[in-house]
Amino acid sequence: MDVVSLPQTGGCYCGAIRYSLNAAPLLAYACHCHDCQTRSGSAFGLTVVVRSADVTVSGEPEVVRLANPSGLAIDHNMCPHCRLRVFAVNPKTADYMSLRAGTLDDASWVRPVAQTWVESAIPWAVIPGVRAVAPEDFDFVRLGREWAATAPRFEPA
Ligand SMILES: [Zn+2]
Ligand SMILES: [Zn+2]
Repeated sequence: MDVVSLPQTGGCYCGAIRYSLNAAPLLAYACHCHDCQTRSGSAFGLTVVVRSADVTVSGEPEVVRLANPSGLAIDHNMCPHCRLRVFAVNPKTADYMSLRAGTLDDASWVRPVAQTWVESAIPWAVIPGVRAVAPEDFDFVRLGREWAATAPRFEPA
């Protein structure tokens, strides 16, 4: 099994916002909803869910609160300079945060355990071999257990 060294670091495009992930993430998933397509400017969103307590952020992200497709208010944390959205927090579950996988300095270990909103996917972008889960069946706890069973090992460097 692969070993990923901790901390894992990442940040925005200009470098004003940097973070370090100091413990194993909880899961990774892909989302094909139109919002994720718009925000990523690409085919789908790729998210790594982590405990907020496991992340150290440097710089002052600007917070923009927007409703997600399920109607939940989400705080998007973006760089005030380059405007890149680095992570998002649901204020009702602020113990967790969603890192945009592409902001990691090395995202090579990020393999989604599930993909959701597949009905709005760009057809060729449906990821082979990754289970499709309907938004209403998306259970972070269950998927987190599944992810942990196949995830790389995370160890302090
Ligand atoms: Zn920036
Ligand atoms: Zn989405």
